[in-house]
Amino acid sequence: MLVKENYQTIFEQIKKLRPENTPKLIAVSKKQPQLKIKEALESGIRVFGENQIKEGIEKFQSQILNYPDLEIHHIGPVQTGTIRKLLGLFAFTHGVGSENALNELIKQANNRKVKIKYFLQVNLSLEDTKSGFEKETLLSILKNISKYDSEFAEFHGLMTMGPSSGEPKLTRQVFKELNQIRNNFSPLAKLSMGMSGDYLIAAEEGSDYIRVGSAIFGERIIQ
Ligand SMILES: *Cc1c(COP(=O)(O)O)cnc(C)c1O
Repeated sequence: MLVKENYQTIFEQIKKLRPENTPKLIAVSKKQPQLKIKEALESGIRVFGENQIKEGIEKFQSQILNYPDLEIHHIGPVQTGTIRKLLGLFAFTHGVGSENALNELIKQANNRKVKIKYFLQVNLSLEDTKSGFEKETLLSILKNISKYDSEFAEFHGLMTMGPSSGEPKLTRQVFKELNQIRNNFSPLAKLSMGMSGDYLIAAEEGSDYIRVGSAIFGERIIQ
C-alpha cells in the first residue's frame, strides 16, 4: 500500500469537486501500524484521526517534537470517563453525542484551561448502532449554543456518519440534511462527514472535514 499516493489521489478528487473551500482530509490512522504512520509523516501528512484516545496518545505524543505542526483529531464517541485523557494531544473531537458528554467536556476544559474544538455528532440515519444526538435535541442545543461555548471548549461544527448500508442515495440524503441543518440553524458551523466509502458524496454535499482511513492506509490490522 502506498500511503502518500492514496492520500494524494483522494485529495485531488475532492479538490476537483470543491476547488474553493476544499474540505480538509483527515488521515484516520486507527489500528494502523507505526510503520504506516511513519510513512505518512515522512510524506508530509500532518492531520490524523484516531478513535481510541490511548492508542492516539501512544502513537503521536512522541511525534510532536519532530512534527510541531501535527494536528490530531479524536473521531470516536466521547465518553465522560475518558475526557481527562482526551484533553491535551487532541485539537478536535468529532464525537460529542450527549449532553452529559458535552457538559463534562466544557467543565474539564475550563477547569484545566486546555483548549479543544468540538463537533456535535448527529444521528440522522437513526440507526441504534450509531451514537449521536437526535435532530430535535440537537436543535435545542444549537438554539442555546452560546451557553455551551467556552473559551476553552469551542463549538466547531456538526458531524454525522452515513447509513451502514452505504447506499449512495440514502447517504446523500443524510449528508444533505446535515448541511441544511447547518445552513438553517448554525451557519458558521463546519461539517464533518465522509469516510472511505462515501467521501465523494460528502464533498459534493458540502463537507468541510473528511475522515478517511482504509482508503489511505489499507485494511486495519491492530486488534
Ligand atoms: C474509522 C472511522 C473513520 C474512517 O473509516 P474508513 O471507512 O476506514 O475510512 C471515519 N470516521 C469515524 C468516526 C471512524 O470511526
